[in-house]
Amino acid sequence: MTLILPAKERKLDDFRLGRVLPSPSRRMVGPFVFFDHIGPAALAPGGGLDVRPHPHINLSTVTYLFEGQMQHRDSLGTEQLIRPGAVNWMTAGRGIVHSERSPQDERDRGPRMHGLQLWVAMPEEFEEVAPGFAHHPESTLPEVSDKGVRLRVLVGEAFGATSPVLTYSPTLYVDASLDAGARLAIPTDYEERGIYIIEGDVLCNGAACDARTMIVLDAGAEAVFEAKTRARFVIVGGAKLEGPRYIWWNFVSSRKERIEHAAREWKAGNFPKVPGDEIEFIPLTDEPKF
Ligand code: MN
Repeated sequence: MTLILPAKERKLDDFRLGRVLPSPSRRMVGPFVFFDHIGPAALAPGGGLDVRPHPHINLSTVTYLFEGQMQHRDSLGTEQLIRPGAVNWMTAGRGIVHSERSPQDERDRGPRMHGLQLWVAMPEEFEEVAPGFAHHPESTLPEVSDKGVRLRVLVGEAFGATSPVLTYSPTLYVDASLDAGARLAIPTDYEERGIYIIEGDVLCNGAACDARTMIVLDAGAEAVFEAKTRARFVIVGGAKLEGPRYIWWNFVSSRKERIEHAAREWKAGNFPKVPGDEIEFIPLTDEPKF
């Protein structure tokens, strides 16, 4: 039995945003608790994305772009231009603040944006580690090509390749581009797996799958994906975490009290500032609800 999760479409500034996780029928796939498909979008010159400084705790954010650029800044002093093909893994641990904004040259020519932002919950024993930011340029991530299939192993080990990205629990994240007529068998060695179709006409075990939906496979189930047209999808998954996670606003934790504490700290202005982006911030106007 497979589960099909359509992206719930929203708007973020002028960008189309498809939220796949959490969904009413499925909270997590492996350690992934949150899955946003940003764009594709092409804005007029002068437009742009401005995600003002905001906090995270007890999770990692993983940003991966297909198109466009984003300037990341965080409270550790990191300034990183996020480009297509790179994996940017930010560990919030006990707390981090970051902003993501379109760079000025993108605004001048009219920004394009297409990518994924995922949140990875951390095992309880690592939730309060020191925050960190790891940038992995496209050239450092292994690629495997065969018979009309091009794979980039972003996180984890699959198709004979191992990603250099360090994780806190077994995690899989693969970007797959298929020519029309190409087929790919999904590896069975990770316990939980979801295949999210970015674009193209795709069959899963012979059945049509819509773009902007995730197909969640049962543990051990064999699945072959076939591209009817040129297609792109990602495989995410990993080991099931030891328990559920609470999500409220930008906070994820195994403990509700931890989220309530973080909300009080953000309201009180007790999180660190983002160097170079000290003025603006996203205010909290609400109380945690679960
Ligand atoms: Mn964020």
